[in-house]
Amino acid sequence: MLIDFHCHIDLYPNPKLIVDNIIQRQVRTLSVTTTPSAWKITNSLSHQSEFIRTSLGLHPQLAGERYSELALFENLLQDNPFIGEIGLDGSKESKHTLESQLKVFRHILWFSKKSGGRILSIHSRLAAAQTISELSEFRGAGVAVFHWFSGSLSELEAAIQLGSWFSIGHSMLGSKKGRELVRRMPRNRILTETDGPFTSIGSNSAKPWDVRKAISGLGEVWRLPNDDVNAQLGINFDELTKGAWNKSRNPV
Ligand code: MN
Repeated sequence: MLIDFHCHIDLYPNPKLIVDNIIQRQVRTLSVTTTPSAWKITNSLSHQSEFIRTSLGLHPQLAGERYSELALFENLLQDNPFIGEIGLDGSKESKHTLESQLKVFRHILWFSKKSGGRILSIHSRLAAAQTISELSEFRGAGVAVFHWFSGSLSELEAAIQLGSWFSIGHSMLGSKKGRELVRRMPRNRILTETDGPFTSIGSNSAKPWDVRKAISGLGEVWRLPNDDVNAQLGINFDELTKGAWNKSRNPV
C-alpha cells in the first residue's frame, strides 16, 4: 500500500477528483492543512475514508496573520492524533515574521504536550536548528515527522537524536544533498510524501499516488528493490501511528 504522509488535498483545483483516486488507488494520505479554519471543510472532503486523515495545521507562513485562530486550534485538537503543517520558516519572504511564527509554534507544541502528545508534520525550511531547539524544549509534544528536511548534516544528527522521523518526497531525492541526508536517516523512521500540489512531476502537480517515484528513489539510495522499500515503509507507518490511524476517523 502506498503512503503520502504530507499532501495538501484541499489546495488542488479539483480536490474531489484527488480523493476519488486516493480511495481507488488505496493511498494512505495524511491531508495536511494550513489553517485551523480550513480543517472542517478539508476533513469533509475525505468522506471518512479509511485512506485519509486530516491533520490540524497552522502553516508558519500564515502564522503572523492567523494568530487569532489558536483558540480554534486548541478546540479541534482534542480528538485528532495528527498535527500539521506547523513549524518555522526562515526563508527571505518569511523571516520578518519569525517572532510570530515562534509564538504560534510554541503555543501549538504546548497544546499538544498538554493533550498527551501528537504526531506532528513539521516544516523547517531554512530554520532547522531553531525548529529542533523548540521541539527539544517541548519534548512531550509528540513525535516530529520532518517534512522535506533540508538542514545541514549536523542539524540532521540533532533531529535524529531527538527521536524525529522524516517524510521524504521525490523532490528531495532529486538533489544530491537530499539523497545524502536520506542516506544518513534511520531507515525505520522514514515515510514517503508528495507535498502536492506544491511539487511537480514533469509538467503536472504531484498526486499522492506519485509517491511511487519517492519509493524508487529510496530504493536507489538503499540499494533495495521497490517491493522491499515499500514493505519497510509499511512497517514504519504501523510503528509510527500505532493504531491511531484506524481509531481516529473524524466525523464529517
Ligand atoms: Mn506542505
